[in-house]
Amino acid sequence: MPVRWWGCCSMHSRQEAVWGKEAHHKIKNSIVAVLGLGGLGTVATELLVRAGVEKLIIIDRDVVEESNLSRQILYAAADIGRSKAMAAKERLNTINPGAIIAAEAIHFDAGNCTTLETAEIVLDCTDNLQTRLVLNDYCRKNNKKWIYGAAIKTVGYVMPIFPEGPCVRCFLKEVQLETCEMVGVLNTVTSSIAALQVQIALELLVGKNVPSYLYQYDVDAKSFQTLTVRRNLECPACAGTFEYLIPKAESKVIAFCSSGRYEVWGRMKNLHRIKEQWAGIDHVQDDGTTMRFKNILLFADGRALIKANSEEEALSAYSRWIGN
Ligand SMILES: [Zn+2]
Repeated sequence: MPVRWWGCCSMHSRQEAVWGKEAHHKIKNSIVAVLGLGGLGTVATELLVRAGVEKLIIIDRDVVEESNLSRQILYAAADIGRSKAMAAKERLNTINPGAIIAAEAIHFDAGNCTTLETAEIVLDCTDNLQTRLVLNDYCRKNNKKWIYGAAIKTVGYVMPIFPEGPCVRCFLKEVQLETCEMVGVLNTVTSSIAALQVQIALELLVGKNVPSYLYQYDVDAKSFQTLTVRRNLECPACAGTFEYLIPKAESKVIAFCSSGRYEVWGRMKNLHRIKEQWAGIDHVQDDGTTMRFKNILLFADGRALIKANSEEEALSAYSRWIGN
């Protein structure tokens, strides 16, 4: 006897039962950007694609490391060392091969924030205050909606930011904050926070009215709080001064990343020419946006992640193998 399936079996039937077909159509035709593809961004992009978003802009400057695998759900052990943007795009396209995903392996800053131009909504999944403040200024200036998200240890925060409401500079101060590398974070909190960001994004896409509250969730205390943030009269961004959109002169070595890696900046590179030179010396791995050679991972925007014991060693490897 043939098996009889009850009900509708399309991929999005359960979601359509809640929101209706028309809402699904809106979700499918929207463009959403996700800035940062770590604990929040990998969960958020997967949920967005499974919810039917077919046009995504995904941005991350980093490569996959072993310590990411406990919570960054798009990556597997085989992706260690690969650019997060490319590994995430590949995985998302296995979920929906029809999704159009613009993967950007760039260090998001004042010089390239127009990457977000076509996005209707941006999800902030960064782990970095500087980047978040650039995003805040860019979205405020361009009247773009975005959803702030942050998670550390057992606590996370979400807040939709609208052009007419308070922004993150109204309540966040530029101070040295704890980072997940220093104090850790649980995968249950990053997943919960990303899920709430996606819920709010989908509500906005289907045209629901969403209030601009700051939500705080502590997985350890099992407490969920809804907080009201007011516009700060002294907030420069709300007054139309966008300090973080002024390109800064970058120092050559900008950061010491985890696992003995230095991030070194240089001018935009012709990857093809460098590949030809490297190929005569040693094996080169090329995934289209990054090239790996010896202890160097080079991005097309001129940045390199270099494993080294000191700044000097990283700088010398940069000028020796990449050029100034
Ligand atoms: Zn503000």
